[in-house]
Parts: sequence; C-alpha cells; structure tokens
Amino acid sequence: MLRRLSYEEAVRLNGGEFCAICGRTDTGPDGKRFHRDGEHSERGIFRGLLCWPCNRNLPKGVSADWLRAAADYLDRAETLQSATGACNSTPDR
Ligand SMILES: [Zn+2]
Repeated sequence: MLRRLSYEEAVRLNGGEFCAICGRTDTGPDGKRFHRDGEHSERGIFRGLLCWPCNRNLPKGVSADWLRAAADYLDRAETLQSATGACNSTPDR
C-alpha cells in the first residue's frame, strides 16, 4: 500500500513551497498549508502543491488536453468579442 507523502516531502518534490499553478507563496490569512494535490484516481499520483483557491477551481476528472482546449476556447471568445464588439450579457432591444 502506498503511503501519503509528508508535507515536507511534497514541498521538496514541488520544488519549493508555492502553488504549482498560480505561483503564490503565501498560504493566506488562515495559515493553512498548501494542498497536496493528487490525481483523483486509484493511482493517486502526487501532482504538486496547490493553494486552496486553485485546488478548489481545478476540475476533477478532466485531462490536460481538455484543459488546454478549454483555455483555447476562452482565448477564442476574447478574439470573437474583439472582432465583433458583440457580447452575450445584454439582451438586444
Ligand atoms: Zn494557486
């Protein structure tokens, strides 16, 4: 059976005590440590340290390919809005 990494081991594998997504180094006013993020599968592979907002916002069960496609989709939306000047938040009158 695999053992859970200690926080100190997780910091070493992460390359330091920071969020592996946004890079923040402070854990916030409540003094929590960073989350030891792992793949949500039977393998439970350690992926890195995450701050609590990034951990909360990282969808479970999605692949890196899906996240890249979602990022491209968001970028495309910015381009479409710039090109057309149109938005979808105010109904046409
Ligand atoms: Zn973060």
